[in-house]
Amino acid sequence: MFPGLIAINYNYSWLSRKLWFMDRHILIIGGGVIGLSIARELHKIGVRQITLIEKGVCGGEASWAAAGMLGPQADSPGTGAFFDLCCASRDLFPALASELLDETGIDIDLDRAGTLYLAFTDADMLEIAERYNAHRNAGLAIEYLSADKTRRTEPFVSPDVRESLFFADDWQVDNRKLCAALTSYALSNGITIRENTTVESLLVEDGRVTGVEAGGERFDADSTVIATGAWTSLIKLGEVALPVIVEPVRGQMIAFHTAKRLFQRVIQSSRGYLVPRTDGRILVGSTTEKAGFEKTVTNAAEKNLTEMAYEVAPSISGLQIADSWSGLRPFAADALPLLGPIDGVDGLVLATAHYRNGILLAPITARLIAAKLISGAGSEYFDTFGTGRFRLRSVVTNR
Ligand code: FAD
Repeated sequence: MFPGLIAINYNYSWLSRKLWFMDRHILIIGGGVIGLSIARELHKIGVRQITLIEKGVCGGEASWAAAGMLGPQADSPGTGAFFDLCCASRDLFPALASELLDETGIDIDLDRAGTLYLAFTDADMLEIAERYNAHRNAGLAIEYLSADKTRRTEPFVSPDVRESLFFADDWQVDNRKLCAALTSYALSNGITIRENTTVESLLVEDGRVTGVEAGGERFDADSTVIATGAWTSLIKLGEVALPVIVEPVRGQMIAFHTAKRLFQRVIQSSRGYLVPRTDGRILVGSTTEKAGFEKTVTNAAEKNLTEMAYEVAPSISGLQIADSWSGLRPFAADALPLLGPIDGVDGLVLATAHYRNGILLAPITARLIAAKLISGAGSEYFDTFGTGRFRLRSVVTNR
């Protein structure tokens, strides 16, 4: 456990530093959920010169494509630094949802009905047994449901279900509304947003990042945050490659539409997931493919996802696909986020590579990065999830 993390707050004696910091100019590159969350967090703690540069439209990439599950438990053995980070971030969502509603009038549809993880095969049952013991021993909220109880809980899941686990603390949020609310916050609070503007390289002077040139314009900054998701490795540090490797991993999804909401909870299984939205849509995901920056939706993926959904819930068989899309998850070699500074490069902080959990991890990422920028506060998380864990491409800047 990382006790320092939960204790991140802004009550310590950095008030005078904050006053100094209010006039600093922070540049954020990337307007996905991560960049937008950092912008809001910085503004809320008093920074008044924030510019966010986005190559397309804010919230238009992976953060738009996601399923919005906030599920630390359903995907994890239930221990370790990454699990702690995910849980700490999930716990920030109830306050975030109500603050965003007050601030912007946008309800991000935080749904705390929980997640059901279904078992259909012997292998699933083995996995469920292991998961149940580990999570129970760790004191986490988990409930075992027999086949009968599973069907009473969610009557539309397949009669072939053999048992399930219920994770009461694995929630969901509407990620598109979350991005819309964060963008609205930025626009109504004087945060400068430049859309349709691509940053190709960072300006470097004497080993320090001093801003960027983008769209024929120079943006000077005291600190720059890279929140560019799957495109992070395309950015240059001066004349050389940024010394981090983040790759795109495509995820394709489909959606069905029903007049009435059929499922109350997120439904997970070893083959995929169904996420019921309040408007009657059922999101079905997802593929995991290395296809470069190609975002095509393929017939094969649509077919596989449809078959999986019909197997998990035969009662929806016959529904036609109402929508399909794909997005690029930002992936580092160990599938963990890249957070914090790069050794030997001043004025630059990374917040990227959130892979499958960027929606879940946005609030805690924003807190960690804002604390770093405002007070220089380190975090054990920067050791665990920092760039130092990889042997980096060498940094040769125009020092
Ligand atoms: P993005 O949302 O991709 O934003 C990065 C932004 O940077 C983009 O808007 C891009 O245009 C901009 N940019 C890039 N380069 C430049 C540049 N040079 N100059 C200017 N702007 C630039 N996560 C969950 O927590 N729960 C889920 O259920 C979930 N489901 C998912 C399902 C799918 C199918 C996919 C694809 C992802 C899913 N994820 C989920 C993962 C989540 O979507 C990502 O981890 C998260 O959106 C990453 O946020 P981001 O802001 O880093 O990236």
